[in-house]
Amino acid sequence: MKRWNGWGEQTTTYPLPESAAAYLAEIVGEGSPAPDAVLADVLPAVPPSRLRPHPMITTDPAERLSHARGHSLPDMAALRSGRIGIFPDGVAYPSSDEDVRALLAFAHDTRARLIPYGGGTSVVGHINPLAGPDPVLTVDLSHMNRLQHLDAISGLATFEAGVRGPDLEAQLRPQGFTLGHFPQSHEFSTLGGWIATRSSGQQSYHYGRIEDHFAGGHIETPIGPLDLPPLPASAAGPDIRQLILGSEGRLGIVTRAIIRLRRLPQVEDFYGVFFHNWETGAAAVRAIAQAGIPVSMLRLSDAQETVTTLALSGKVSLVNWADRGLRLARYGPERCLLVLGITGGREAADSSFRQACSLCHAHRALPPIRAIGKMWRKSRFLTPYLRNTLWERGYALDTVETAVPWSEVLPTAAAIKSAIQTGLVDTGERVLVFAHLSHVYKQGASTYITFLFRRADDPDETVHRWRMLKSAATRAILDHGGTISHQHGVGLDHAPYLAAEKGAVGMSMLGAVRRSVDPEGLLNPGKLLAE
Ligand SMILES: Cc1cc2nc3c(=O)[nH]c(=O)nc-3n(C[C@H](O)[C@H](O)[C@H](O)COP(=O)(O)OP(=O)(O)OC[C@H]3O[C@@H](n4cnc5c(N)ncnc54)[C@H](O)[C@@H]3O)c2cc1C
Repeated sequence: MKRWNGWGEQTTTYPLPESAAAYLAEIVGEGSPAPDAVLADVLPAVPPSRLRPHPMITTDPAERLSHARGHSLPDMAALRSGRIGIFPDGVAYPSSDEDVRALLAFAHDTRARLIPYGGGTSVVGHINPLAGPDPVLTVDLSHMNRLQHLDAISGLATFEAGVRGPDLEAQLRPQGFTLGHFPQSHEFSTLGGWIATRSSGQQSYHYGRIEDHFAGGHIETPIGPLDLPPLPASAAGPDIRQLILGSEGRLGIVTRAIIRLRRLPQVEDFYGVFFHNWETGAAAVRAIAQAGIPVSMLRLSDAQETVTTLALSGKVSLVNWADRGLRLARYGPERCLLVLGITGGREAADSSFRQACSLCHAHRALPPIRAIGKMWRKSRFLTPYLRNTLWERGYALDTVETAVPWSEVLPTAAAIKSAIQTGLVDTGERVLVFAHLSHVYKQGASTYITFLFRRADDPDETVHRWRMLKSAATRAILDHGGTISHQHGVGLDHAPYLAAEKGAVGMSMLGAVRRSVDPEGLLNPGKLLAE
């Protein structure tokens, strides 16, 4: 069963090794864990539903609670403290296009606001109901999770949009295919959610981002259904798919998506490669990307992330052994770890591996270590569980991400880290901040920055600290011309900054499209666009 107030399955945990706890205490101080609210106390706070009865809608308080918040830091603070405030008035689980149409008609008749809901893994407030006079209905797509059609000749599959990552892959693998879209939230996020947020998987360098996979589909909008055929290319005016990508539930409910597949690779390996420092590592990664060497992932941690990752692994003897080896090889404290992914047919994979290693070597890296790659692979979808543990030990953790051209990558990362590092000075609190290059392109890269600080006994104060850090980081991103989001989307938290990226004309175009398909403002109000 899923946790109601944190990440993932109740039975899965990520214990914090004592050595790691000592490491965190040394950097930011001992955490002071305030106790969590208990479910039995929170459920009675769910207010009566304002929705008119409908056979497809449940108003069960537990269902409404489990759809009230996503996974942003304010969400975590709200759920753990029980101060949730606003709940959807009901939840519906459609199983067909007709069901979705019926729910849109119900919304039109009753002025209900609909929130399309995939896996609820949003980290920027996408699925949170907002206060207002009208009832709110969450439309959970999880019952629409089947593979409907596989066109093996074209390499296209039609899936219902509520399918979660592991279920999607499980339906493709027996047929010899994969989508290859592996965000860290893979366990719970859905195809529809990926499309609606312009998601990016960890191996996007090889498999592509969701915009590369989304070939077409079916969308139910308030003014009628929209079908997007899976044309390989078209010169027939602007591409409507690009409007649906990143539409965050504002333009319609995606019920089916046609996706572009890859054959299952013969090789899927990961390696750890150490560089002397972040600058040389970044130069090597850029050289690999710009030479077009077809590896599948280039995830380069800075020195602080390298140390922290090793500390959190709790494998003290292995870490000490690696440390001794690195010192012997004259690697100082600025050493940085690259996780290199190799994917593809055997011959092509061998050739990419050789070419990537030769460029790493030219940048004075050590030979690749397979054991580190294996460790990374084992915990790639487990790491989010650490957020639960850290919270319970009195720490709050969040991330910010952006993308900029190569010439700005290092200065931008440095500016964001510095803004966060000093963001709580006035409160006397320290912040642990570290970064990695997470997605790499020929012309630039995205930087993913993690920060950890002590939470306060009062959840509002914890959120206040988070706001100070988040806004300092976002100002640094904007000052360097970065995108306000490379992969997490806009939701509520980034909405105030969208105009800085799109400009007045861009905002006007987006608003006009939104009003043309949803003139009554029924779908997910306040997300992406303030209107
Ligand atoms: C621990 C963790 C790790 C993460 N790692 C990554 C990562 O590596 N890469 C990445 O890209 N993101 C990541 N995310 C963010 C999040 O998982 C993505 O934004 C994901 O795409 C959301 O999918 P979902 O199905 O959970 O959507 P939800 O959170 O349910 O919804 C997100 C938005 O999409 C809309 N939506 C959902 N389904 C539909 C539909 N069928 N039709 C229309 N609109 C719809 C919703 O209305 C909402 O606006 C991570 C999040 C967490 C908590």
